[in-house]
Amino acid sequence: MSLRQHPVRIRPVIHSVLLAILFGCHSSSQPEPSQYSVPAEVEPFMQSFRAEALKRNSPVSTENLIITFQSGQQEDICGQCYLDPGKPPRITLNNNSFCWQQANQQEREGLIFHELGHCLLKRLHKTDHFPNGAYVTLMNPDNVGVYAPCRYPVGGEECDKRDRRAYYIDELFTPTTPMPDWAK
Ligand SMILES: [Zn+2]
Repeated sequence: MSLRQHPVRIRPVIHSVLLAILFGCHSSSQPEPSQYSVPAEVEPFMQSFRAEALKRNSPVSTENLIITFQSGQQEDICGQCYLDPGKPPRITLNNNSFCWQQANQQEREGLIFHELGHCLLKRLHKTDHFPNGAYVTLMNPDNVGVYAPCRYPVGGEECDKRDRRAYYIDELFTPTTPMPDWAK
């Protein structure tokens, strides 16, 4: 299926976090040991996440994490974070053409950073917008391309948003980051 058959969906549509936190379900089973398993194709984005965390003095650890690609998921769910008690945080990424194969590097990074926001930074979705209409956060529920270049050669002056990356990553680690000038 080609993207051009769906010209309306120029923004990656993502998922909802599955915060499967089962309070009151303490069993006698031992927590699973820490594990780190990330596809080679995703590892560069993990390195980037660690570098961005370090720049901002964030103490987040990436040592206990499982990321897998899954095909055949619902088309508009590009990623999900599962937080189950006693188990490593787990992220599944949809390997389809819309979510991954035809996504640009910024959209891929945005998707992974969004899921890491749920799974490692324990952030929830936020739907607020700035006065200019842009989402205030990468942790919005339906657009991980908030700092991506154009996917299509149409889209007006706000099509290429790569210069917004620093703000969105600041906000990911520090939700109190003030509104940037471009958002007014
Ligand atoms: Zn989400």
